[in-house]
Amino acid sequence: MPHTGQIKDKAVVIVFGASGDLAKKSTFPALYTLWEEGLLPEKTRIIGYARSKLSKEKLQDQLFWKIRDDAKEGHHQEDAAKMREFEGLVKYVQGSYDKDESFQELEREIEAIETEVFSGQKSNRISYLALPPSSFSQVSHMIKKHNYSPETINRLVIEKPFGKDTEDCKRMMSSIAKDWKEEEIYRIDHYLGEEMVRAIYHLRFANSFIEPLLNKDHVESVSIVMKETFGAEGRGGYFDEFGMIRDVGQNHLLQSIAIMMMEAPASLEDDSLRSNKLDLLKGIPPVDSADLVLGQYADGPNGKAYVDDETVPDDSRTATFAQWAMKVDNERWRGVPVLVKCGKGKSWKSLDEGLMTMTFHLRAPRNNVFNVNEHSNSLVIRMNPEPAVFFKANLLKPATRGTEAIEQEIKWTVPGRKVAGDKLAYEANIFKGDQSSFVREDEVIAAWEIFTPLVIFPKKDRSRPADRLFWYTGY
Ligand code: NDP
Repeated sequence: MPHTGQIKDKAVVIVFGASGDLAKKSTFPALYTLWEEGLLPEKTRIIGYARSKLSKEKLQDQLFWKIRDDAKEGHHQEDAAKMREFEGLVKYVQGSYDKDESFQELEREIEAIETEVFSGQKSNRISYLALPPSSFSQVSHMIKKHNYSPETINRLVIEKPFGKDTEDCKRMMSSIAKDWKEEEIYRIDHYLGEEMVRAIYHLRFANSFIEPLLNKDHVESVSIVMKETFGAEGRGGYFDEFGMIRDVGQNHLLQSIAIMMMEAPASLEDDSLRSNKLDLLKGIPPVDSADLVLGQYADGPNGKAYVDDETVPDDSRTATFAQWAMKVDNERWRGVPVLVKCGKGKSWKSLDEGLMTMTFHLRAPRNNVFNVNEHSNSLVIRMNPEPAVFFKANLLKPATRGTEAIEQEIKWTVPGRKVAGDKLAYEANIFKGDQSSFVREDEVIAAWEIFTPLVIFPKKDRSRPADRLFWYTGY
């Protein structure tokens, strides 16, 4: 059976970890919205699977929490009849992650659906692991053993973090690869589903005037800034183990850099895009700890300090802010520094702003006859808050009698959607069999190689980055 291609009619989606946070905030809302928009295979059924006993009300809360929250925010109207219809497609199976009997019971449930809904035909199967990464290897093995259907398409969907460093990642990947082929594995990086990140491909490759600018001859430096308006907020258990570099640097930010700085692909095929991203990542040497600054947010007028969150250890030295410089050592970008700054927390006003921008600072005009500011030309890609692309340019000051230039923005705004399943096209790609926006194994490993020296260091080494942590109130 080919692993690629679109799943058109029959699908059973099994959400492992159905009782958890990711299932509630992301997986179920995405499935609901895809279903509502007719983007799921015609006869899709969903099984939620977890160890917890879930009452009908608790399952409803998991399924519709985000839909209801978005309705409260006024993004759409709650449609009770549709929600009831969707609920009718969902079954919940309680089971463990390490017992054969549990997965055999799950198989009986899938087969019951195949008998009732698919006239006894085998369905395609999507297994979505909304689980802590520590359980990926075991659960993916159990699915292969008990719930894999050789006659149809099987897909395994996992979400970052993919390990904590290069070796840990390789261990995880190789253990999953014993049972699953690369074409069957969909590694989600939700940033790749952002409207603006997807729009970068068009910006660069559907126009002739941007590409000639994107190289060392025209770009002096690249800067990326990301601010998240929330801190630990009850998820300190996860975040404290990972920190800012692992949470966003190694994945979301690096993927955005790769898409913006890679060579033009030969086609839009999955592997053409991903191979070009890989080539770019391989050109980035490991970040030197001398080029890194780490911080942790302190308490302030708008909230408590990171360590004051009840889910964070009092003596935590995990970085909630990181800034580093890196370079891309290839013909196109050699000598152009890439500066990244990312952090979270809302305790101070200056942190209370969601922002993600990538700026290409252009060199000054060769013959600066208008004597303009050297750093006034730039191309800015803004993902958050409002997706937009703008050029900062020097233009003739309106109504001036002389030759005075003023800095102006030439702007294009992308109408982003801020509702459940706003990355609809992304999730739909799992059913389409389009892996281009899912991260390939070699990309993940290349990304870890850039950061592993920063996150792994001998405990007694006083120069280790965590000992240089500072407490910040804004940036
Ligand atoms: P949770 O901690 O909420 O875990 C999900 C479910 O997994 C739980 O409800 C629980 O279900 C089960 N579980 C918890 N701990 C364990 C364990 N040690 N071993 C086996 N099962 C366990 O995680 P999230 O839902 O927050 O995240 C799931 C995955 O998605 C993680 O890899 C996370 O890093 C990633 N992620 C999460 C995001 C989010 O917004 N939450 C964002 C981006 C990525 P039960 O006990 O009922 O079986």
